[in-house]
Amino acid sequence: MDQKTTPTRRVERIINGHETSDGAGVRLRRILGGPELDMLDPFLLLDAFRSDDPDDYIAGFPPHPHRGFETVTYLLAGTMQHRDSAGHAGVLRAGGVQWMTAGSGIEHSEMPQQEHGLLSGFQLWVNLPAAQKMQPPRYQEFEPEQIPLERLDNGTEIRVIAGTTSGGTRGPVQQIAAQPIYFDVSLPAGADYREAVPHTHNAFVYVIEGALEIADTAVPAGSLAVLASGEELQLQALPAKTRFLLIAGQPFNEPVARSGPFVMTNRDELQQAYEDYRNGDFGKVAEAG
Ligand code: MN
Repeated sequence: MDQKTTPTRRVERIINGHETSDGAGVRLRRILGGPELDMLDPFLLLDAFRSDDPDDYIAGFPPHPHRGFETVTYLLAGTMQHRDSAGHAGVLRAGGVQWMTAGSGIEHSEMPQQEHGLLSGFQLWVNLPAAQKMQPPRYQEFEPEQIPLERLDNGTEIRVIAGTTSGGTRGPVQQIAAQPIYFDVSLPAGADYREAVPHTHNAFVYVIEGALEIADTAVPAGSLAVLASGEELQLQALPAKTRFLLIAGQPFNEPVARSGPFVMTNRDELQQAYEDYRNGDFGKVAEAG
């Protein structure tokens, strides 16, 4: 980096993801966690699902385990029901978020609670540092009304799920190891947007609708822009109303060993996870609330 380099983050690469299915046959687009980009430390996976055809989602995600990381479900449309092996259950509505720290292990199901209509949203997987992978499971769940909305003079609206905006709005999700930013930003056509993003963090933007320009790089709807290092994000909506996610987190720079629903630091820990799950230990989780 020469000294004239601005601290503004440029686009390092564009990721489009690929169509796949998961769970019992839910069609989705895997953006992070696939062959294009297997992870962007601390983020392990980003899936986008959006369909008004029940055949694409009705089978849902029947009971399955997780260990060693966090799953973040953010719904834009529709309703999902969540239930786990420790007796915790809840309904996630459009605009609501569930930040589940799987920690030492949880077995849960994630099922659409609708038989028709649009289901749309995201699931993000966030790693835990080695020292916290076996922490007790924890949920942070927020109804749509509990997500703060910051409105700027130019018509920009920011739903703040995690992290704090330059304007001082603080998201309700707290005490996450990756110190994440998770903003859902809506811009009027042509509007500019600036936000500080700590230089310590890896960051990306995913365009939900409309299109953006970031430092002369166009980012269309359905694309993820991995941001280069820097301290600030500056972007502009192209001539259409534009909505995007801004997500950032502090990388752990630790080894990652992953297999299906488990993300650990080495193969032995993965084998232990499978063994513990087979032995039913994931059902004995005491804390979930
Ligand atoms: Mn799951």
